[in-house]
Amino acid sequence: MRILIVEDEVNLAEALTQILRKQHYSVDAVHDGQSGLDNALSGIYDLLLLDIMLPELDGISLLKAIRGQGVSTPVIMLTAKGEIDDKIAGLDYGADDYIAKPFATGELLARIRAALRRKGEVIPEDALRFGDIELNTSNLKLSCKGKELKLILKESELLELLILRKQAVTSKEQIIEKLWGFDSEAEHNNVEVYVSFLRKKLAFLNASVRISTIRGVGYVLEAAD
Ligand code: CA
Repeated sequence: MRILIVEDEVNLAEALTQILRKQHYSVDAVHDGQSGLDNALSGIYDLLLLDIMLPELDGISLLKAIRGQGVSTPVIMLTAKGEIDDKIAGLDYGADDYIAKPFATGELLARIRAALRRKGEVIPEDALRFGDIELNTSNLKLSCKGKELKLILKESELLELLILRKQAVTSKEQIIEKLWGFDSEAEHNNVEVYVSFLRKKLAFLNASVRISTIRGVGYVLEAAD
């Protein structure tokens, strides 16, 4: 799961980044509304944490702009005291939730999980299933027929992406954007490395699920029945 933080209080953005990374979310943080908009429109995020008062473009305008472009990424607004009207406007323009600053870490994490669940892609307990495998994205455990092993974060993110894409072919570019962010220096062979790690782990579990290479296009997850 990849989360974008748009927050101009750099210390708060940094603290949030650390907290969320500890929970195995991938996180990007930007400190002004325009960068937030550019990032959010990429569509690579599973959730946005959006401050309201921001330089260049405020959070409400950013939200209006992305909803206007058809981006349905869940948005949790971070509101400061005295921004009640903005909060209401945010919900009117399609925010999923809001949380008032200062907030407790536990509450924020619960709201993030709830917003991701409402998105409908995560089934309870953060477990994703495909064929005979089950991936738990919160503890990074991959299990199959009673056996389980622990993945490293990038392997879990890659497998999660392939599972969520269902039978659609996923290109190396899509994988790079999702795992490393669209500004990254990661290259195609980074993807190949993680695909080969995952294939070894699937084989170790005797899973009937395999990652097929579609030459020149990308990868697709397949389950033999
Ligand atoms: Ca602010």
